Parts: sequence; structure tokens; C-alpha cells
Amino acid sequence: MIIEPKVRGFICMTAHPEGCKENVARQISYIKKLGKTEGPKRVLIIGASTGYGLATRIAATYGCDASTIGIMYEKPANDRRTATPGWYNTKAFEEFATADGYYAKTINGDAFSKEIKEQTIELIKSSMGKVDMVVYSLAAPRRTMPDGTIYNSVLKTVGGNFTNKSLNLNNNTITEATIGPATEEEIQATIKVMGGDDWKDWITELDAAGVLEEKAVTIAYSYIGPKLTYPVYYHGTIGLAKEHLYNTSVEITQEFSSRGIKAYICVNKALVTQASSAIPVVPLYFAILYKVMKEHGLHEGCIEQMGRLFHDKLTPVGAIVDEMNRIRLDDYEMQDHIQHKVMELWDQINTENVNELADLTGYWEDFYHMFGFRYENIDYSKDVDI
Ligand code: NAD
Repeated sequence: MIIEPKVRGFICMTAHPEGCKENVARQISYIKKLGKTEGPKRVLIIGASTGYGLATRIAATYGCDASTIGIMYEKPANDRRTATPGWYNTKAFEEFATADGYYAKTINGDAFSKEIKEQTIELIKSSMGKVDMVVYSLAAPRRTMPDGTIYNSVLKTVGGNFTNKSLNLNNNTITEATIGPATEEEIQATIKVMGGDDWKDWITELDAAGVLEEKAVTIAYSYIGPKLTYPVYYHGTIGLAKEHLYNTSVEITQEFSSRGIKAYICVNKALVTQASSAIPVVPLYFAILYKVMKEHGLHEGCIEQMGRLFHDKLTPVGAIVDEMNRIRLDDYEMQDHIQHKVMELWDQINTENVNELADLTGYWEDFYHMFGFRYENIDYSKDVDI
């Protein structure tokens, strides 16, 4: 089949297996160049197939020589459609890692479910015995509870309408977007999906099954961002879920203190991923941020961020944290001079100057790369087996 990108707004309906493999290969090559660092040896990554979770898996494997088990929720190909990018990424990663002598196995299914937790525990028991790190990198639109109740997460404000500039992803024009407030039910549902409940369930069940190493570290990813996006992010429904996630990190550390388990929130940089492109207003901020950070030589992708996590932020004597015990990988993004410049450009930006003031090329390059497209060394006119 010859595969072409079919982009609909913030999603691409197709993925290219060779391009996804290239994406993984480039991330591996980055970590190999960075060299080895001391770190975890047996890592469970929940949400391991794309974005930050995939980069974590690659960095742990090639940076710390870790064995990994990944959990993902991805679709294989059928006669009518390609697999999802995460499926191709994971196939490629397992092939590379296995060829290089690393243990890497993946479970494809709903991480919120009891069955997947049980399967994971069995796999840990039969393969590595115990894990010394658990990374929670889920970005999910919904959660199905054991009784069948479904909670859907929403990206809305809390309180009132929020109107601001927004990038129309269909034609790269600057428009205005208004995001309305969530109902109390929607707020609670978003916390159920993207808060810390399920993270804590994982840690509790892994520990009860005896597959969590003493002094294991567990990390969940979060985002804060600039005041500009507070109404839709930090103070919005997703922000409340992230606050719950943070509170859960404190709870986990307290409740499992006798076992020496430490839970951290790691605040990452804003980056184009499948999850983040869906948030209104935010993609325009990303495109301006990319421009400013690239000009200052500070731009990073998921893999550079995760390289820095293992090399600079997780040390043998503990994690480097801020006053709230959070690991900050958004430290470059949040520097005053970067934020100042971004805000200056934000005020000036319009449809006429968007290409000058924002890095639309970089935004779209990251977007297409996520689905395995627009790699200069891949021949997209060739038939590929999906
Ligand atoms: P992503 O969409 O690239 O990855 C999500 C992962 O979760 C995939 O591996 C997917 O298969 C998996 N997943 C989704 N639902 C699942 C389910 N029910 N069961 C099992 N696996 C499931 O997203 P991402 O941007 O890498 O986000 C990961 C985390 O990082 C999130 O917590 C997000 O809030 C956080 N984060 C993202 C950014 C950003 O700008 N992208 C910044 C800071 C923090």
C-alpha cells in the first residue's frame, strides 16, 4: 500500500510504518550519543508508545541499560487502515531493543482495567521479578470503570468563557477561539481520567503483588505553562486533574514510606504530541515557543527532555526538585526572557505575520513526524506492508 497523510484538524488518520521506525531510530541514536548514565534497571512505562512515554522508554533502555515493559492502547492495521503510530513505534522499538540485547515487551490494552494490571503483574513476575521504576505517561480521553461507568475528560475552563487567539490548524490562519466552562460533572470526570486515581491503583496493586522493588521511584508527567494558557490549562479542567495528580504523588510517597517508595511529578515542556494538539489556543503558543526557544538554542523534543531527566534530574542520591518536590523539565521554557519574548510575539501575531513570528514549519514538521511522515530519507512513493 502507498500511504499518504490524511490530516483532519489535529489528527492524522494514517501512519507510515517506515517513518515511525525512523522516528524511533532517531530517538535511539540521540540517546546513544548522549552516553550512559546510572539509573533504573527494570522499568514499567504506562503509556509507552508515543510522545513522552515512548521517549522515556528509549532513554531508560539506551541511557540506563534498563529492561522495560510498556503499556499502550493502540490499534493494529486491518485491510482498510494503517495501524496507529504508537503501534508501529512499539513494533520498531521492540525490534531495535531486542536486536541490541535488551528486554522489551509491551502489553496492548486498557491501562485503567483490572485485567491489564493483572497481566502486567504476571509479566513482571515471569520476566524481571520486580520493577524499580514506574512511569505514568497516560494521556487518555476516557476511562471505563470496573462497573462499566465511562468518564470522559474535557478540555474546558472552570468558571467562565475564555477567548483568545488561536491557530486554525486547517489553514494556518489566526482566529479567535472561545472555550466555555465545564459543568461540575465534567470537571469531576476529567479528574477521574487524568488525575491520580489510576496511578495510585497501579502502585497499590504492584506493591500488593510484591513486584515493586523497595525504594522504587514512580513518576507521572504534568504541565503548567504560561499565565496566558492558565484559563484553558492550569486553571482549567485538565489543570485540576493535574493538581489531583500532584496530590496523589504526595499521598503515594506518604503511604508507601515504609517501603521507601518515592513518587514525583515531573513537569515537562510543551510539545506537539497527539494529546497536546487537541487543546485549543495551546498550539499557537507552541508554535511561538518553538520559534523563540530555537532562536535561543534551547528547543527540545520529547527525547531531549527525557535524556535530561535521566542524566540531570534523577541522580543516585535522589531527584533534583523544586520547593514543591516536583522535577522541572519545563525550566528552559519558563525562563523569564523566553516567556517575555513569547508574550511579545503573541500580542503582535496575526494571519499576515504568523509565518514570521511563529515556527509553523517546526510545528507541522513535529506533527507529521509523529505519524511517520515527511522524513526526507523515506521514499513515500514506495509500496509498504502495513
Ligand atoms: P501521547 O498522546 O503521545 O501518549 C499517550 C500514551 O498513553 C500513548 O502511549 C497511548 O497509547 C497511551 N494510552 C492512552 N490511553 C490509554 C489507555 N486507556 N490504556 C493504555 N494506554 C493508553 O501523550 P503525551 O503528550 O506524551 O502525554 C503523556 C503525559 O505527558 C500526559 O500526562 C501529559 O499530560 C503529559 N505532558 C504532556 C506535555 C505535552 O506538551 N505534550 C507536556 C507536559 C506533560
